[in-house]
Amino acid sequence: MNKAESERLSARFEEQGYKPAESVAGADLIVLNSCVVRQTAEDRVVNKLHDLRRLKKEKPGITLALTGCMVDSDIARLHKRFPQIDRFFKAGDPPSWLGETAGQSLPRRPAPSVYVTISQGCDNFCSYCIVPYRRGRERSRPFTDIVCEAQELVRRGAREIILLGQNVDSYGRDLPGKPDLADLLSELNGITGLARLRFLTNHPKDMGPKLIDAIAALDKVCEQINLPVQAGSDEILKSMRRGYTVGDYRRLVAEIRDRIPDIAISTDIIVGFPGETGERFRETADLLSAIKFATVHVAAYSPRPGTVAARELVDDVPPEVKKARLAEIERLQEGIQAAGNARLVGETADILVEGRKGGKWYGRTRTDKLVFFSSDRDCLGELVDVKIVKASAWSLQATTKTDNNVQEEK
Ligand code: SAM
Ligand code: SF4
Repeated sequence: MNKAESERLSARFEEQGYKPAESVAGADLIVLNSCVVRQTAEDRVVNKLHDLRRLKKEKPGITLALTGCMVDSDIARLHKRFPQIDRFFKAGDPPSWLGETAGQSLPRRPAPSVYVTISQGCDNFCSYCIVPYRRGRERSRPFTDIVCEAQELVRRGAREIILLGQNVDSYGRDLPGKPDLADLLSELNGITGLARLRFLTNHPKDMGPKLIDAIAALDKVCEQINLPVQAGSDEILKSMRRGYTVGDYRRLVAEIRDRIPDIAISTDIIVGFPGETGERFRETADLLSAIKFATVHVAAYSPRPGTVAARELVDDVPPEVKKARLAEIERLQEGIQAAGNARLVGETADILVEGRKGGKWYGRTRTDKLVFFSSDRDCLGELVDVKIVKASAWSLQATTKTDNNVQEEK
């Protein structure tokens, strides 16, 4: 979400005549987009803010601005704590000192893959999470605004659109006529020139058969779902206030895989949540071994002031135990991914090329696997057919059809 908002902010500043600076030291305006989802993220922002205090002393003429989830309603308190900052604006808000503009600022030449926010905020109040307190209650963007924005981005060159919301399954519940994500995908699927559609994040308590059918039926919607489970123990899920059991989650995964056999399912895990005994942690590890997710984002529990968990539960898993459990999940998942990717060697895939790194082009398969290949042509933004020749846990190496022919002739 922050990445998407930073892209839009850049576009907004470029509309005003700003150009990207070569370095922090050479900038006239520095905007810090903060994340406070965990203490480590917040610490990084605070360290950066201290660095900027030094820069502001050396160059008093620069403008410093802070946005993102660190900016709560108490701007006066923030200003007292960080007097070096000239401007504060809340996550998702426009930089107010630039004046009003109609609608969103869009990049003039978008990347092949772009984010489009479909809803702001969240109503779920999971016990550990600060998002509803900092980003407010859920608000869906009007259906036609999203469709028009997607059409315009494609007209400007985007090939893939990733729809964003904290809970995309509840999109539209607050809109007239209650359109849902499946309706939105089916409308966007008709945009000429658009190659792919993705969306995140789904919530296991809300994802239903209509969306599963839409993913199966719509040709541009990729076979990929982000479905955070958070923990593999019913007791922990209950105190996280997630609204589902491990059994519910497993049934949902079975239903999705039954309908869309090749689907890649990713998840988020929190280790070291209050009350996570060794046995309960084992249940999470066992769930990962059983489901075999495509990717897992794992984080150590971090109490966030103001949340129910921080108020009512004792942070009783010692830091070194959290660290060891996090490492164990990462090790386990690395093995699962390495084995899954190894099975792809020899197969062909369609990838959308997103850029160049280390002398190679890279892009993603429909199931979101990162693939590198060589080509002398400018392939940016193209869909390229490749053959997978090598795999690791994190990425795949491939050859293009033409490269294959050359190799076969040799
Ligand atoms: N809305 C999505 C969902 O329901 O999972 C994700 C939003 S949250 C900003 C991103 C991830 O951060 C969560 O899935 C969770 O794993 C992690 N997270 C949130 N609060 C956390 C906390 N207090 N400690 C550790 N991880 C946390
Ligand atoms: Fe946070 Fe839960 Fe909302 Fe996700 S669904 S943003 S974890 S409160």
